[in-house]
Amino acid sequence: MYYYSLNNHSIKADFKQATIEGQAPDKGLYFPSDIPNWSSSFINQLKTLDKAEIGYHILAPYVGNSIPNDKLYTIIEETLSFDFPLKKIKENIYTLELFHGPTLAFKDLGARFLSRCLGYFAQSIGRKITVLVATSGDTGGAVADAFFNVEGTEVIILYPSGKVSPVQEKQLTAMGGNIHALEVKGDFDDCQRIVKAAFADQDLKDKLFLTSANSINISRWLSQQIYYAIGISQWQETMPPIVAVPSGNFGNICAGLVAQKSGLAIKHFIAACNSNDVFTQYIKTGKFVAADSVATISNAMDVGNPSNFVRILELFGNNHQELIKHVSSLSYNDELTEKAMQEVYQEHHYMLDPHAAVAYLAMEDWIKTNPSDKGFILGTAHPVKFPTVVERVIKDAVPLPDQVASIIKKEKKAIQVAPNFAIVKEIIIQLAS
Ligand SMILES: *Cc1c(COP(=O)(O)O)cnc(C)c1O
Repeated sequence: MYYYSLNNHSIKADFKQATIEGQAPDKGLYFPSDIPNWSSSFINQLKTLDKAEIGYHILAPYVGNSIPNDKLYTIIEETLSFDFPLKKIKENIYTLELFHGPTLAFKDLGARFLSRCLGYFAQSIGRKITVLVATSGDTGGAVADAFFNVEGTEVIILYPSGKVSPVQEKQLTAMGGNIHALEVKGDFDDCQRIVKAAFADQDLKDKLFLTSANSINISRWLSQQIYYAIGISQWQETMPPIVAVPSGNFGNICAGLVAQKSGLAIKHFIAACNSNDVFTQYIKTGKFVAADSVATISNAMDVGNPSNFVRILELFGNNHQELIKHVSSLSYNDELTEKAMQEVYQEHHYMLDPHAAVAYLAMEDWIKTNPSDKGFILGTAHPVKFPTVVERVIKDAVPLPDQVASIIKKEKKAIQVAPNFAIVKEIIIQLAS
């Protein structure tokens, strides 16, 4: 197994190099040279295997010789140290809750797997790895938690002052140890501009081993396949399910499609989108037209040019006819999303966050036209991460889970900086050495 750049197939890397680099040198996304076929014994035994055994079976062929087997098994065990329950919302519709990790976001799994792989590689190359990220909220928290105390890594997170929620700010700033928060007097675009400048700075590259914890990293992307196998391991219905995925950059659903190609029994995928519907339009017309993003209440899906779209095309050989056999797409505006949150809470006493609510709408519509189908949606975030919208819509309080209750009591520690690369560069060098 190796990985090639989608911009130029002759640029190749092994798992270790692709994980450390994040993106190929030509800025292409890495894609695996083979999609393994899972054995029928593995697929038939899913219900009897535990999470770590499932995860190991899925990821070992992708990791290859980059990490010894026993170390990889430990990494996967640590990555999956929380639950992924499949719950019934109503007849024919279930939800796979992916938000019981330390920061209550489904991104915890990918961030935890990546952090532990990078920690291992830092040891094996005998150099400290400095992870630099800009965040508008959720990614930073998942990355901070995932890398906390991972030996050989130093993490520097840039976030826009006053523009993240109080819980998010504590998740970024209260960890301490190897996690450093820079509170930038500016907006998210300033943070991103500074991080880009850092990656382009030769002097910094010479001084530090710098990498990003970006969501296009193969370690984050491919590890998400585990969700789908864990979902199927809990699926008790006789027919394979339809799976509806709240989608933004399409990394999660693309991982699901890879798992299906490996043999996992999923009947069909629905990419559930908010008003940012470029993929829905592509499915309908066969033409992809990127757009500016529009703001919605399911803001983690406000993406007008999904980065993993090229990976989905590659998976189906750029063949629209082939692709639509496996994946459909439906899109819903905020008004419909709020109505779904309200109805599901009133009628089924289940609290949907705005992202899962979009997937719920898609599943409901699918089943209306295909009444013999059943399926599950992916619950990508805990409702407490969006308290303002959720409480306004369901007219009830969202209880604070323990993970959040303990972090908001901790002390914020952040270095305040002007939105200026030269200043930030000096701080990065100090913190990383
Ligand atoms: C990131 C995110 C998504 C979108 O996932 P993609 O893999 O980018 O499609 C959906 N819901 C929530 C809550 C997210 O944080």
